[in-house]
Amino acid sequence: MSEGRMMERPAKREHIVILGAGFGGITAFLKLDRALRRRGLLGRYRIILVDRHAHHLYTPALYEIAAIPRGEAGAVTLKPSICIPLENILARTPGAELLGEEVVALDPTRRRVRFASGGELAFAYAVIALGAETNFFNIPGLAERAYPIKTFADAVRLRNRIEELMERGAETLRIVIGGGGPAGVELAAEFVNFLCVMKERLAAGTCREEITLVEASPEILSGFNRAVVRRARRRLKRLGVRVLTGTPITGVSPTTVFLKGGRKIPYHILVWAGGVRPTGALQNFGLTLDGRGGIKVNEFLEAAPRIYAIGDNASFLHPKSRMPLPGNVPVAESEARLAAKNIVADIIGEARSPFRPPERWPFILAVGGKYAVSDLVIVKFSGFLGWILKQLVELRYLLFILPFPKALRMWLRAVYYETRND
Ligand SMILES: Cc1cc2nc3c(=O)[nH]c(=O)nc-3n(C[C@H](O)[C@H](O)[C@H](O)COP(=O)(O)OP(=O)(O)OC[C@H]3O[C@@H](n4cnc5c(N)ncnc54)[C@H](O)[C@@H]3O)c2cc1C
Repeated sequence: MSEGRMMERPAKREHIVILGAGFGGITAFLKLDRALRRRGLLGRYRIILVDRHAHHLYTPALYEIAAIPRGEAGAVTLKPSICIPLENILARTPGAELLGEEVVALDPTRRRVRFASGGELAFAYAVIALGAETNFFNIPGLAERAYPIKTFADAVRLRNRIEELMERGAETLRIVIGGGGPAGVELAAEFVNFLCVMKERLAAGTCREEITLVEASPEILSGFNRAVVRRARRRLKRLGVRVLTGTPITGVSPTTVFLKGGRKIPYHILVWAGGVRPTGALQNFGLTLDGRGGIKVNEFLEAAPRIYAIGDNASFLHPKSRMPLPGNVPVAESEARLAAKNIVADIIGEARSPFRPPERWPFILAVGGKYAVSDLVIVKFSGFLGWILKQLVELRYLLFILPFPKALRMWLRAVYYETRND
């Protein structure tokens, strides 16, 4: 890494940098802050949270944003129900610092991180939690023509485009969603009500829109247990979503999605929810990467001495199954908790703990309207109860990261808007 402009800051306290304010980064940040505060160590260490955005994105509700009619809420109104200002999260962590920078490189030997602005920051410890980016797998025409669903702006753009096309004419709208993982399933199911609500509002005739979910693997929701897949399948069928499995997309023209085996599907809107990969910035981190571009970590989640990688950035094989861990919030959070614990253990000279992931992770899969399939390992619910559980899990998370009144306000706001199309 070349010598950049060193950022001006007091030299006394050593830095613990958390790169990325997503689920992993925020959890690591809050856990570290609390642990260091409890031990009176904040005089020796300054925790610096770095993100290129000023907000924390609550991705599990992105599918809702893409399916809320513009008449109910424009982008400005919707944003606070899913984008949590980082300054609100830092309100209870005096002494910690927020840095709005884009990370472009890291030097593990000199322990420095470099930003797109040209600045550099030295650190004693780092937690890398920069998340993932959409992977179009070089499928011809896909990146140019499909709508990704990864950011708040992606969701709003998709919603606006659907409405534009519906407002233009009464023709049956054909939406194809590539990728039958949780994001694709949630989106397909949620679109059903949204499209019918729109049709009704526009007085544009019967709701006959076509939603097709296309999955390359032999079954949707790969990795989920069979009972869950069966339930989700039943629900999608009832909602009228067409599901095609074992049919990888091989190419996309302006009007047609081409599938392996020669099948063609005409479309008006193509959404790509078929894959992500660890963010490309990791290529410049001087660390060992796996074939997908994730950072290989040891049993303590360390990629190099005092440098931890977590969440969608970490490449960690389950000790029993030797399979990679799924890219989801519970994994990111539990890795974050362990990375924070190990940094504190290292500082106070105690033994660090190895990561012992469970064999099953909790999940909640929303499948249209007020219906969700939830498996929190100790309790399972589906239908309306599953949906209630989903709301409570969201509230619990907001209470972890925000002061009580802000958490409650944000939760109520999200529930209000998310039920406007049900
Ligand atoms: C549409 C969608 C729906 C999902 N739904 C669910 C769900 O219902 N349940 C579930 O468990 N999981 C869900 N996931 C997966 C889940 O969001 C991720 O696994 C989880 O967010 C990973 O956490 P993370 O901390 O590794 O990364 P993220 O939460 O993605 O955070 C990464 C952070 O790094 C920042 N960043 C990235 N690059 C840079 C850079 N170069 N410089 C500075 N900052 C940067 C980003 O702004 C972001 O704040 C969903 C994902 C998507 C895309």
